[in-house]
Amino acid sequence: MSKVYFASAKMSALRADASLPAKFRRALAHFPLKAMFEGKTIAIKMHLGFNIGYTTIPPIFVRTLIQEIKEAGGMPFVTDGRGAVPGAKARGYTEETLGARLVEAAGHNERYFVNAPIGYLSLENVQICGEIANADAMVVLSHGKGHGQCGWGGAIKNVAMGCVTHKSRCDIHVLIDTEFEWNTDLCVHCYLCRENCPTGAVSFNKEDKLRINLHHCRYCMHCVNCCPHNAIKINEEGIRQFQAGMARVTKACLDTFERGRILFINHVCSVTPFCDCWGFSSPAIVPDVGIFLSEDIVAVEQASIDSVRIENYIPGSLPPPLEIRDVPGHLFEKIHGKDPYLQVEEAAKIGLGSREYEIVEVE
Ligand code: SF4
Ligand code: SF4
Repeated sequence: MSKVYFASAKMSALRADASLPAKFRRALAHFPLKAMFEGKTIAIKMHLGFNIGYTTIPPIFVRTLIQEIKEAGGMPFVTDGRGAVPGAKARGYTEETLGARLVEAAGHNERYFVNAPIGYLSLENVQICGEIANADAMVVLSHGKGHGQCGWGGAIKNVAMGCVTHKSRCDIHVLIDTEFEWNTDLCVHCYLCRENCPTGAVSFNKEDKLRINLHHCRYCMHCVNCCPHNAIKINEEGIRQFQAGMARVTKACLDTFERGRILFINHVCSVTPFCDCWGFSSPAIVPDVGIFLSEDIVAVEQASIDSVRIENYIPGSLPPPLEIRDVPGHLFEKIHGKDPYLQVEEAAKIGLGSREYEIVEVE
């Protein structure tokens, strides 16, 4: 059973010290920051977003974290992958606002990395960004939200996709092979799937074979839902392989650190259906939950996903063509058709942590 500290976004009184940034600072005090970080360089791995997205973690929380780490004697810097750092200024992330340098994780042009073996299916190895691999310690500071391909984008996704080079990200995606399965025997070529796809991602070639262009796909599941013969399905095996690959890459990245030098923080506020890499934001689909902190990546992810509940869904918050489908499972499975717990399950299987957790709420 792992401990997960929780600072709720709910306020017990109309006072600054009852608000989330104040509770976050108090939650950090529960960790031995001096023992973890004193005299060390600390990579604060964030997803800094893109374009005009505005629902990434607000700078006040990053600044608070940086102040606490510095007070503990650490030397933090904020880092993210290719292309994210230069544009981050426009969204309020600068050395002045955060109190620490912003650094591209694999250097400009992504030439600074170390290779690590993975040995899972086609994924023989990955290139871990040099600034991550060569830091002494890490804080994985993640915005908890939905994700079209993983179901959930939190700490595991932040490490697996964000601490490796673009080339390795592409190699991980190859594990899915294809997101959708099309059963040619069941298909009667009514083309309802093509007509119901809002983005033109579905087409049929000269041989009348279905094609789905994943670059145009918005993971709305209309094609799956509208087929009268269940000829299109999510490729569950491929999705599991993808998530199992992410778990293994996460382990390879975390293994570059000594034990006791990584802290995981999930900021489960502004919970959007899609990842921050889309370059825009849509409304939150549940009320702000709060911040989860743990030294166990599996426990922090399990607790965070558990906290995003269907009963808290805010009607009207999903932008079209997304919708809540009448299928069993988590809220994000109803939206994107992928079980968000798969990555957590796979991470637990390879010993990254425990799915059993105890919540310690910080007032
Ligand atoms: S909706 Fe189903 S049956 Fe109709 S063309 Fe598409 S896959 Fe085939
Ligand atoms: S999931 Fe939605 S966007 Fe993607 S191919 Fe199917 S209908 Fe088109």
